[in-house]
Amino acid sequence: MAWKEECGVFGIWNHEEAARLAYLGLYAMQHRGQESAGITSLNERGEQIHYKGLGLVADVFSEEALNSLPGDHAIGHVRYSTTGQNLLTNAQPLSANLLSGPVAVAHNGNIVNTASLKKDLQAQGAIFQGTNDTEILLHLISRNPSNQIVHCLQEALPRLVGAYSFVVLTHDKLLGMRDPQGFRPLVLGRKQNQKGEWAQVLASETCALDLIGAQFVREIEPGELFWVDAQGEHSVRFAPPAKAARCIFEHVYFSRPDSVVFGHSVYETRKQFGKWLAKETAVEADVVIPVPDGGVPAAIGYSAQSGIPFEFGIIRNHYVGRTFIQPQQSIRSFGVKIKLNPQAAVLAGKKVIVVDDSLVRGTTSKKIIALVRAAGAKEVHLRIASPPTIGPCYYGVDTPQKKQLIAAEQSLEQIREFVGADSLAYLSLDGLFGALGEERAQQKKTFCAACFDAEYPTPLFDEHQKAQSPAAR
Ligand code: AMP
Repeated sequence: MAWKEECGVFGIWNHEEAARLAYLGLYAMQHRGQESAGITSLNERGEQIHYKGLGLVADVFSEEALNSLPGDHAIGHVRYSTTGQNLLTNAQPLSANLLSGPVAVAHNGNIVNTASLKKDLQAQGAIFQGTNDTEILLHLISRNPSNQIVHCLQEALPRLVGAYSFVVLTHDKLLGMRDPQGFRPLVLGRKQNQKGEWAQVLASETCALDLIGAQFVREIEPGELFWVDAQGEHSVRFAPPAKAARCIFEHVYFSRPDSVVFGHSVYETRKQFGKWLAKETAVEADVVIPVPDGGVPAAIGYSAQSGIPFEFGIIRNHYVGRTFIQPQQSIRSFGVKIKLNPQAAVLAGKKVIVVDDSLVRGTTSKKIIALVRAAGAKEVHLRIASPPTIGPCYYGVDTPQKKQLIAAEQSLEQIREFVGADSLAYLSLDGLFGALGEERAQQKKTFCAACFDAEYPTPLFDEHQKAQSPAAR
């Protein structure tokens, strides 16, 4: 089962260069998934054309591939899954020919009742091609005798529990929807086409809108089904408002800092996390350095708050992929070594504060601290701009199973010893929510912070625990 997927979705309606803009949108959201990329476009005859492959967006799509995707409408997807199911059958968009016509779906999130829905559907004769949860939606729609896609979706979506932001392309519509709790982001933008008309854009993150020169219009609301067709834009609610559960980890780590997520600039939020971290965990030091790139905004905030100078003490090789994105442990460890180079010029003889956005297993920090010491640092104080990670994510962020989460298993002192720091401190949960500008009690009502407080905003299904293979992540 591919329970843990990180993904980015994109959709565009009514632009002459739909596939190329989808390509660029996916390019901007490459950080959301590096294992496969795909685009489905709709030609003038209402037929869908698909192109997808394993690898990075720039490697999957050649000029020729983009030329093979004609039409003014397209959706796209980037995907990363952790359970070894890096198969082309799981690459998205997924498509099918239904009673209502051809349908292509791209999904970001994780549906937590996949196993029971799948069992029911299989008992009724459904045949599944891949191992991802997105196919469920296609099956639920296909079973509906109606040939109206909006009606089919309105009936299917309430049966899904968990996190989903979908973009869907049919023969005559682009649709976008977010689960009623709004775990994952999805935004609407607009861009003028070559005829001066509006083209609608859907994207996981605003950085995709920026790159293609589209204006941000609004977020798709939790529980909203939005669509655009030849008649214009439409919106209905498929579910009543539910307890909001926007993913806090989008702000901590996952989204790009130049995106605005859930109405907050990610960069500003991360800087605030750093400021609150400095207020809560002050220590005497000569220099504040980030673990690049994730820790940069928080280290800037830490430095501004504490008055301790900010320096780039570790230089990152930008031509190496993010370490976690390698499916095998052995490659990951190797990745840290080739990716980060500490600078003796900044570190030698200094008391150093190292700021990172999160500490999950602790193995990255351990290696970084060893590198910083080897470069001559006198003291190394590790500061983490989020609380201890104690809960696995079931909603679409790749966190390992509980026993691999060091903070779920060990005390602060044990973790400090493991990573080899002179001191270790995390941002508190109050500080995390405080940095977002409101009282924890208020923010707790609108965010999912299960990775930090193990309070899960949906029922948990047994299948999850079983599906978390030990090799995952
Ligand atoms: P570790 O404590 O060794 O598991 O790694 C923590 C580092 O991984 C931090 O520098 C984070 O920026 C980064 N990180 C945290 N969560 C993820 C994730 N879901 N995918 C990739 N990298 C992550």
